[in-house]
This record gives sequence, C-alpha cells and structure tokens, in this order.
Amino acid sequence: MNLCDIREVRALLDRHGFRFSKSLGQNFLVAGWVPRQIAEAGGGDAACGVLEIGPGIGCLTRELCLRAGKVVSVELDPALPPVLEETMAGADNFTLISGDILKLDIPGLVERHFQGLTPLVCANLPYNVASPILKALLETGRFRTVTVMVQREVALRLAAKPGTAAYGALSVYMQYHARPEILFDVPPECFLPAPKVTSSVIRCQVRETPAVAPACGEEFFFRTVKAAFVLRRKTLCNSLCTAFGSPLGKDGVAAAITRCGLSPTVRGEALGMEDFAALADCLWAALS
Ligand code: SAM
Repeated sequence: MNLCDIREVRALLDRHGFRFSKSLGQNFLVAGWVPRQIAEAGGGDAACGVLEIGPGIGCLTRELCLRAGKVVSVELDPALPPVLEETMAGADNFTLISGDILKLDIPGLVERHFQGLTPLVCANLPYNVASPILKALLETGRFRTVTVMVQREVALRLAAKPGTAAYGALSVYMQYHARPEILFDVPPECFLPAPKVTSSVIRCQVRETPAVAPACGEEFFFRTVKAAFVLRRKTLCNSLCTAFGSPLGKDGVAAAITRCGLSPTVRGEALGMEDFAALADCLWAALS
C-alpha cells in the first residue's frame, strides 16, 4: 500500500472509520519525498534505535524502519493502532507503544528498547505540543540527535540567534542543550488535511554537556532567562524586575546587570548564552 497516495490513504482511513483530530495535531504526510528526506536526515542506521512520536498511519515510520536497527513509535490516538497493524505488517524492527509521550518514562523506554543501540529521535511532531515534547526529550539527555518537523515559526525560534526577532527563552533552552539546524521547509499541500502554516524540518545535535555551566545551577539560570524575556520591548532591567524586583529592588537588579559587564539599558534579546550565565550568577550572588 502506498501511504502517500491520497486515494489509498482515504480508503484505508474509511475502512477503519478514522476521523482526523485537530486537538491531536493530526496532519498526515502524503508527499513521498518528505518522509524519505526526514528519515534520510535523522533516521540513523542499523546501529541506531529511533524513537518516533506520533506515527499516524506510518508513512515516516516505514522509512525509519528501512534504515534504523529498531524503531519505537508512541501514539496517543487509540484509533490508530489497528491502522498501524495493517500498514506496518511485516516490519519486525517496529514496536508500537500506545500512550502520551508527555506522560511516559522516556529514560525507562530507552533503557528497555534501545540496549546496545544509539538512541535518536525522528518525528513529525503534533504542532500544538511540540515545545513541551522537545523539552521532555532534551531533558532526558538520552538522545544523540533529535530531528523533527515543526511549524516553521517554531523552528525559527528554536534556531534563532541573539538580536533577532525570533530569539527568546525557547531559543536559549534549545541551544543550551543542542545545536539546532533548520534543514528544509515543507509546504501545506504535502499534508492531509493541509495545515494553514508552512512546516520546517530541524535537526538538533544534542550537546554532550550543556552550552554553559553557571554556578547558580540550571533551574535559576532558566528562571533568569525567562524573566529577561517577560517584557521584550523594555530594558533587561525592567524585565528582570518582574521576577527579582521585590527582593533586590530596581537598583539591586541594575547593579547585578552592570556587575556582569552589561549596559543597564540593554534588552534581554541582545544577550547570548554566556551573558545569561554571567547574569544569572550575579543575580544569584546578590540574592544569597
Ligand atoms: N507521523 C505521521 C505523519 O508524518 O504523517 C503523523 C504526524 S501528525 C503531525 C502527529 C501525530 O502525533 C498524530 O498521529 C497524533 O495522533 C500524535 N500525537 C498527538 N499528541 C501526541 C502525544 N502527546 N503523544 C503521542 N502521540 C501524539
């Protein structure tokens, strides 16, 4: 069965009485070049175990199974396992797990299924929960690369550099854990149903150790980063005061900013990873 032939896909879905769910971000790929190119970019080889989130009817899953040693796909929609049983029949390196990726023990899954293999992620993510899924995956520190398709706007934010409009707390979070690279765009007509937005495939090479190691620790570092972007159009000092103004006062926040070598009128969006680490440490010291 050709899973990228719209007539065959419609017949398959009708046979199973399947209805698309908007809330599950169900836009299935129906242009053969896209799953092939995603798998080629991030699906690894026989030495790799690939975790796929949201196999849908399996068009990317099939491409992954052709390349990887093992593929484990996690699907939330209980209507899809019977469809996958049909479309993935004969793929003996494929395992389906029914459930919500945001509720699963991901390190446990890797341990159980990918012994002796290099774990990777390759997926066309449900766009409405793409950021929490990426965070859950990166936090585990278990994957060598994470290659995913997301809304183009999200891909731009993930890979954005300081001083650009797309740069924000999500960019810092991603680049703290990984080196993201936007590979190619995918237009809406490649999906069934067609989404309203353009999509992009992004490959994230996960860092062996985070980009910076502030003495204040990871949690306080990210509290600082979030606070720096709360008031994007204001100065860093005003933005930071939303989180730290009450204990430190505006003068205390301004002093911490100058102590780490930054201008008091700088905006949060101008700060790179090292600047954030220095700032977080100065704020931490001022609070201690
Ligand atoms: N991989 C298929 C493709 O490329 O055609 C389908 C991708 S579709 C954009 C997203 C898939 O993720 C859907 O099958 C949806 O049911 C599933 N999904 C949504 N939320 C999920 C979650 N929290 N955990 C696991 N799967 C989820």
